[in-house]
Amino acid sequence: MRLKVLGAYGASDAEHNLTGYLLDDWFAVDAGTLTSKLSFAQQARIQAVFITHSHADHIRDLPHLIHNRFSQATGPLTIFAAKEVMELLVANVFNGLVWPDFSTLISPLTNKPAVQYRPLGPGKKIAFNGVSLTPVAVNHQIPASGVIIEMNGQAITFTGDTGPTDEIWKRTNKTANVVAVVTEASFPNDQQSLADETAHLSPQTFGDELRKISVDAPVYASHRKIPFERDIESQIKNLRDRRARVLLEKNYTL
Ligand SMILES: [Zn+2]
Ligand SMILES: [Zn+2]
Repeated sequence: MRLKVLGAYGASDAEHNLTGYLLDDWFAVDAGTLTSKLSFAQQARIQAVFITHSHADHIRDLPHLIHNRFSQATGPLTIFAAKEVMELLVANVFNGLVWPDFSTLISPLTNKPAVQYRPLGPGKKIAFNGVSLTPVAVNHQIPASGVIIEMNGQAITFTGDTGPTDEIWKRTNKTANVVAVVTEASFPNDQQSLADETAHLSPQTFGDELRKISVDAPVYASHRKIPFERDIESQIKNLRDRRARVLLEKNYTL
């Protein structure tokens, strides 16, 4: 599968982008960076987005992706999220105040709503256009869920933001042909207490998580905070595990 990393940081400036990933050009995970880095035509090819949690850095471009879909002659955009995450999005973002609820508006180009919400039960695998999705709750400050995606005989795990966690590793270890794991390392080791308080990982706790993962695939640290990106990179290298890497904003073929 092809993984296009549109944003691999936990903050943004002119050269660093918020979390946003695209698999095979049509399935997105998180929406911090989608519209801002994709053409209108590329956006129209996105059929679904899985949202890990409702923090602003993971949903910044979602209202604009939905708005653009309203003026594209293509089918509805399906938004997947764990049930609790979806409830927060609908109550706090797509509430008619911050942004319209486009699931109730009929697009003049397709005579269908521009978007459909698909809340998912924790741990329950579902199928969508030949792809399997298994949402698994992780440990963040608010309801948050990673996802295991099985596509074309390969699997990839995205945790989204998380502190130390277990269930998603157990499920990943039982999944066939895992080709990559994308998790996080937000803060450098000397800010471990801040990482713990905010339910994020540092390279040190990333290393602890790595020991829970038995699959032989690269494990990427995303969501670095900009001022510490070099420190985090060297601390990840110092773990001396050949699977451990930082995630870069580029295209990967897995
Ligand atoms: Zn985040
Ligand atoms: Zn977060």
